[in-house]
Amino acid sequence: MNEESGGNSCDPTDTMKQRRAHFLILIVAAVICGLIGLGAYSDAISTGRTIGLALSTDEGHPRITDIYSNTPAERSELKVDDILLAMNGEKRSTTDAFIAISRHFRRGVPVDFTVRRMGRTLTFSVTPGVPFPWSVFLLNLLTALGYLLVGLLAHYRAPEGERAQVLTFFSLAVALEMALPDQLVFMPQWAVFRLTIFYVLTGIQMGLEFHLASIIPRRYPWFDERPRLLKSYYVFGLGIGILTSTVLVLNRLGVSDLDFLSGFLSTLLNDVVLIAWGLGIMAILIVQLRQSRTRAARNQTLLILAGVLPWTLFNIVTTVVTYLGMPRPGFFDVLQPLVLLVYPILIFIAIFRYHMLDVQLVIRRSLVLFIVTAIVILLFSLIFETGASRFGSEINAGRLQVGIFAIGMLLLGLAFNPIRNWIQVRVDRQFFPERFETRDRLAELAATLPSLGSLTEIGNRLIEEICEIFRLESATLLVSDPHSGLLVSLASNGGSVTDEYGISLLLDSRDPGVQLIREARRVLPADLIAESSPGLAQRIQAVNAEMGVGLVNADTLVGILLLGPTITGERLIPEELDLLRLFSLNLATVLENIRLFESTRYEQLTGLLRREAVLRALEEEMERSARYERPLAVGMIDLDYFKRVNDSWGHLAGDTILQRVAQCLQAQLRTTDRIGRYGGEEFLFFLPETDLVAGLHVAEKLRQAVSQLDFQLPEAPELRVTISIGIAELGTQEFGEHSLNELINAADQALLQAKREGRNRVIAA
Ligand code: GH3
Ligand code: MG
Ligand code: MG
Repeated sequence: MNEESGGNSCDPTDTMKQRRAHFLILIVAAVICGLIGLGAYSDAISTGRTIGLALSTDEGHPRITDIYSNTPAERSELKVDDILLAMNGEKRSTTDAFIAISRHFRRGVPVDFTVRRMGRTLTFSVTPGVPFPWSVFLLNLLTALGYLLVGLLAHYRAPEGERAQVLTFFSLAVALEMALPDQLVFMPQWAVFRLTIFYVLTGIQMGLEFHLASIIPRRYPWFDERPRLLKSYYVFGLGIGILTSTVLVLNRLGVSDLDFLSGFLSTLLNDVVLIAWGLGIMAILIVQLRQSRTRAARNQTLLILAGVLPWTLFNIVTTVVTYLGMPRPGFFDVLQPLVLLVYPILIFIAIFRYHMLDVQLVIRRSLVLFIVTAIVILLFSLIFETGASRFGSEINAGRLQVGIFAIGMLLLGLAFNPIRNWIQVRVDRQFFPERFETRDRLAELAATLPSLGSLTEIGNRLIEEICEIFRLESATLLVSDPHSGLLVSLASNGGSVTDEYGISLLLDSRDPGVQLIREARRVLPADLIAESSPGLAQRIQAVNAEMGVGLVNADTLVGILLLGPTITGERLIPEELDLLRLFSLNLATVLENIRLFESTRYEQLTGLLRREAVLRALEEEMERSARYERPLAVGMIDLDYFKRVNDSWGHLAGDTILQRVAQCLQAQLRTTDRIGRYGGEEFLFFLPETDLVAGLHVAEKLRQAVSQLDFQLPEAPELRVTISIGIAELGTQEFGEHSLNELINAADQALLQAKREGRNRVIAA
């Protein structure tokens, strides 16, 4: 559902709850960021102190047991089996004592190591410090931030719903776990804390992930029918987490000898539970996949499945490698965050491409663009950084570096817009095909409309397509007559066309609503239009419109397009409104051209077919009916005592009444029926595929509709008019050359009869 309805809910406890949730989530996000920073700071210090030695911990003076590659120790003259006597002249006799000294090492400050080698005492200078492990750090950072982002997105953009909530908690739990530093140089107790938090978090994650997998793409009956399952996910996950962390912490603190139990639990957790977890999630997702019926639902589930797969495989491979007694390959350290990173990336794609959460299009777009832009900037600064460090020593001047940086930034700034546009088009094509779809479909519609020929067909196609393109519940096209200002509903699929406002609407061109629409030249909220024009307000209400846009061609209002709400309740985004505005300009031109063309066939005052046009159409229809032996009804209409109306209220009022009657008659007929102005206040109509009995029915409907018309003329508020109708049917027998005249004559005679019998009635020939 749309967020407004949730956000605007009047329940104060709801908003309170929401605010508290927002606040809590913000705190968690801050803690995550803080932990990442703290870990990085601690790593920077500890890598600065690193020498790269392993010392024996057995009795007697510490002995160097190992020298790690790519460390200061390897580059120094220290050797394995050297006995360590002193550091910086400070003599010590235990490993722990030396470690205590090493806490005061600083990156780049040389340390003297005094050792005994083959009876001789030697002193070597070693400069501590290994490079900060940027790649691992950045990868971890990216993964943690990826999860954090998924969590925040799920919480803020789709606050309603179980899926979004579980996804928020799960993502935050993983982000928090990733953010936990392995060690903190200034807080030795941290290791124990970390252990506790880590295992409890892992347990919570397990419960949450099982829960999430069971409701992606949505809840299916198998899950709903087993309410205990959900509870068991959390009981199992948390149980294992709490048990393991308790045992490990007690063991680490030496409270009791739990070596065996803690060893067993770590093995259980790392080798069995972790793998069973991954496989279990995959099994649930496969069950869900088999239940998914729509493409979007299947793709969502498949993506999440693809996200879990690498992690599960990684865990299996790691366990196998350990059991085979093989050394753990070094690249596993990089691989681990990578396999974890796959998951949030795929969740992002599930959200953005397959609408896993109801995130609004604008927000989805700006987020993806933001991320891509951030990556581009990151890449640029990385390139710049490497460039600077490569040439920095040769250039040998800080000022030059600043200059290069400034030029680089300038270039980036200049290149930024094209790059961004380029990225935007690609991102849109990849992630938001619907944007292009809307534009393409509108362009196609604009191109096909003129070829449809008649106003009615244009109107119907337009309404159908515009509803589909913008996912609207309904739309209505009103077309105005340039001479009379009469607004006629040309096509609509909203409300009921037969209701009292559905037929036609006489609007003065000076009506403030009409002026507003004509001048705004953009999509307006329907409320705003309704406020300024009571006449339009009734129409807007009748067709359930939310927006309206004027179709303006060279300052004349050709028509109004009224748009209902979207099916999902979401609002149209600014971009879509702009597309609509552009389209309305095009539509106005199309309608105006068609009207000019049709004015040769249509009569100006009433907008109905001219006498010749309706006679020609009737002739064709008669031929068709005779050949296929189908029924055809023809009717003649004459207004009752119209001379009196003219005499009492003037010809202008008479004209307006004629218009309204004509529009009323037209609106009552089907699109396959035709009606034309036969004489001054006489109309000829014919009904294909209709026999005399059915024709009588239609005629009676016309008579009643006209008799109920309320003209709302200021000069004649009470005025009502009636019509008389004569109706005849084309027989199935062969007709001669004069058949057209004979048929019209028959209808005419019936009309005369109706007049004679007192008017306001229908008589069959
Ligand atoms: P009835 O048909 O019931 O016998 O009486 P009537 O007064 O309507 O008689 P008739 O059909 O002969 O009327 C023709 C009148 O219709 C003449 C004219 O005043 C009016 N009329 C015809 N064409 C127009 C028009 O275009 N505008 C206006 N205002 N009046 C018209
Ligand atoms: Mg008359
Ligand atoms: Mg007449």
